[in-house]
Amino acid sequence: LSMGGERWLPLEEVKPAELALYLRAKRAAGWRVVALEQAEGSVPLDAYASTRAKGAAGGGGPAGGGGGGPGGGGGGGGGGGGGGGALGGGARTLLLLGAESTGVPAPLLAEVDDCVEIPQRGLLRSLNVHVSAAVAVYAMRAAEHDAEQRAA
Ligand code: SAH
Repeated sequence: LSMGGERWLPLEEVKPAELALYLRAKRAAGWRVVALEQAEGSVPLDAYASTRAKGAAGGGGPAGGGGGGPGGGGGGGGGGGGGGGALGGGARTLLLLGAESTGVPAPLLAEVDDCVEIPQRGLLRSLNVHVSAAVAVYAMRAAEHDAEQRAA
C-alpha cells in the first residue's frame, strides 16, 4: 500500500487456513478469482489482460473490496483487492498472490478460475510479491482502459 492508502482502501484479513473457503465464497458471489503465479499452464499476463478486457468495455466501477495481506506464516497467500467492475463482462477480479518464498499453495491453485504469469527473462526466477501485484493491476487496468476507449 502507498502511505496513507490504508485510510481509503477497505482491508480484510483472511487467515491462511480460511483462504480456500473465502475464495469459494467470492466465486459464488460472482468474483473471478485469478492466481498470479508461475505455474504449469499459466497464461501470460499481457494476453490475459487484453482477452479479459475485450467485450467488457463500459462500466468500470470503483476499486472493489479487500483481500488479506500476505499470509502471516508458512503457506499463506495474500489476497489481492478487487478490480474494477468491467473486467470480464462485469465480474470483479480477485487477484491471489503467494507468499514470498513458497508461492500460492497448490491446493489453492485448484480453487481459482485462471492462473496468470508475468513473463520474465534473465537470471531471476521470480519477482517480489508487491511488484508482481502492481504490474498485474496496472496491466489489467490499462487493457480495460484501452477497450473502453475503443468502444467509445
Ligand atoms: N514461487 C517463487 C516464490 C514466490 S514469489 C519461487 O519459485 O521462488 C511471491 C509471489 O509473487 C508469487 O507467489 C506470485 O504470486 C508472485 N510472482 C512473482 N513472480 C511472478 C511472475 N513472474 N508471475 C506471476 N506472479 C509472480
